[in-house]
Amino acid sequence: MSLDHLNIDKSWSLFLDRDGVINKRLPNDYVKSIEEFELLPHVLDALVRFSDMFARIVVVTNQQGIGKGAMSETDLSLVHDHFMKSVERVGARIDKIYFCPELATANPECRKPNTGMGLEAKRDFPEIDFEKSIMIGDSPSDIEFGDRLGMHCIKIGSDGFPSLFHVAERITSQ
Ligand SMILES: [Mg+2]
Repeated sequence: MSLDHLNIDKSWSLFLDRDGVINKRLPNDYVKSIEEFELLPHVLDALVRFSDMFARIVVVTNQQGIGKGAMSETDLSLVHDHFMKSVERVGARIDKIYFCPELATANPECRKPNTGMGLEAKRDFPEIDFEKSIMIGDSPSDIEFGDRLGMHCIKIGSDGFPSLFHVAERITSQ
């Protein structure tokens, strides 16, 4: 992760993947309920730091468990409402959560590494400038998504290092 020369200021935006970055990913399963949604260590602290720093913070998450029938959009929105409440409680901010419910086999435009969710965010928040945006994810498809849109990309380690909090520390100590 090379962030040293970026000169991040309030005109920048942050794109976050969800599973494996914000919450623990479930191997070969989907987070279908609040009970299965477990925040990774210090994620809320990281979001507090990011909230002071970025103009817009959005989450972009592939959720093909919906397309597979493992959960419904209502199940997902219950999980996201619960998460957003935790974010608000600590005084942090996420502007919007975008999700792609479609199956990978259909290769829909909304599914990362395709750029649909990024373009949708830009439509909702025209001030987003992809060249002044950071994408943080734990999968190659996240990095590919960010690359296609011209963002700066940071990969979270599957071993937990760097974590979202480590990235927040790096960025805020500049
Ligand atoms: Mg992920």
